[in-house]
Amino acid sequence: MNPWHWWRALVVVGCWIGFLDTLLEAAPRNLNFIPVGVARVDLSPTNAVPLMGYAARAGLPAPTNLAQHIHARALAIGSRSQAAVLIAIDNCILPGSITDDIRSRLAQRVGLAPAQVALTVTHTHSAPCLTGAAPNIFARDLTPTEQEQIAAYTVYFTERLEEAARLALERRRPARLSWGRGSVGFAKNRRTPGGPVDHDLPLLRITDPNGELRAVLVRYACHCTTLSGELNAVHGDWAGAAAEAFEREHPGAIALVAIGAGADANPDPRGTIELATRHGEALAAEAARLVKLPLQDLPTAPACRLQTLQLPFQPHFTREEWIRRSTNSGIVGFHARRWLARMNRGETVSPTLPYPVQTWAFGDRMAMVFLGGEVVVDYSLRLKRELDPQRLWVNAYANDVPCYIPSRRILDEGGYEAETSLWYYDRPQRLSPTIEDQIVEAVREQLPKSFRIDPACGESPPPRTPMDAPRAFRTTRGRPPHHAGVP
Ligand SMILES: [Zn+2]
Repeated sequence: MNPWHWWRALVVVGCWIGFLDTLLEAAPRNLNFIPVGVARVDLSPTNAVPLMGYAARAGLPAPTNLAQHIHARALAIGSRSQAAVLIAIDNCILPGSITDDIRSRLAQRVGLAPAQVALTVTHTHSAPCLTGAAPNIFARDLTPTEQEQIAAYTVYFTERLEEAARLALERRRPARLSWGRGSVGFAKNRRTPGGPVDHDLPLLRITDPNGELRAVLVRYACHCTTLSGELNAVHGDWAGAAAEAFEREHPGAIALVAIGAGADANPDPRGTIELATRHGEALAAEAARLVKLPLQDLPTAPACRLQTLQLPFQPHFTREEWIRRSTNSGIVGFHARRWLARMNRGETVSPTLPYPVQTWAFGDRMAMVFLGGEVVVDYSLRLKRELDPQRLWVNAYANDVPCYIPSRRILDEGGYEAETSLWYYDRPQRLSPTIEDQIVEAVREQLPKSFRIDPACGESPPPRTPMDAPRAFRTTRGRPPHHAGVP
């Protein structure tokens, strides 16, 4: 071979090596694509059904009118039976029995483990009652007609949730997951003027490989109570308005809305559909701003864990105390008479409340927490102190809403979230102050130790987006340098 041929052969080999290098370089980026499917189904009732949320509706007829359509929106992340499925639902109070039902259907049909399925509700107070949810809401027995209406809607609702999950699983195709955080200001502490709130708006973005937006998931810690009980019509409140506004501005994309630990926060101001729309549009505008930013990639589907805790109640009332309480009017007397009847039938009362704690860890880049019940803000603030706030996402109203979940502080202070709300939920007594440590410890135990914060390093204010905190988000696999893993 003459020197020219040698030279040409070298150039060709060099070009191939360069090409292979390019391919190898591109490979890790391609690995960032995860199969993701999204779906939305309508949950609006087609027949009359009583609405959950306000005791004041006890004397109103079951409505038939829709002020806004309500939906379930589902997200399926990951391959085959390893997928994680989230269903974000426009409803007020989700009984754990429905989550159990959906999980067992998805286990049978797709092979998903319970930890891979999460259900969240927006807590809109203008959605239909579900069987088993806050059964004392009207401080009277439900009529046979109401029971039938609620049972029929519950069957329809459950079928629709399964359909949403099935469609999301079927529609999985390569996508890129990324996340960041913004802030919205309409949540206000409703117990204490100027009291604590969590205004963070974490956002998960799902785009096609070509960058086209397919869905967002956002979470905001606030009651979905802009509308009062006087509006006896179906509506998604600010969460429904936010999804509607975002989807209108981003045709083809789906907006899932979950609720954080905001059980002691109300939207401010409140009272009309116009205000619910205004809050929803404020949230949608912030989400629209975030989706345009260079958010942090999440290259893996989540590792899912689930545990059912047993939260102790404080010692139950004695029979004499129940008898004394039963002479009261309204909810206190109605609740006591129900429990006395149970005692008279010889039923035993559980000393504990089953309580779901679920986590999805996206590698060590972000941890999504799902807490059951109406969780007060102290849990979010404490978890953000004990775990890296820059990588933590706390959902509440998830999988089961058995009652309020007060903190130690709120149990000390007393009031609606600590006690009087329990009678509507048909719970026998206050929860123990030990539940706060129990729940926080369960979250800490489920997540990789790399999420734990080193108390000696103090706390820095969380950045709003990866761009605001390049060091925190861009160090090795997203772990901030001062939050090295603590065993
Ligand atoms: Zn509530």
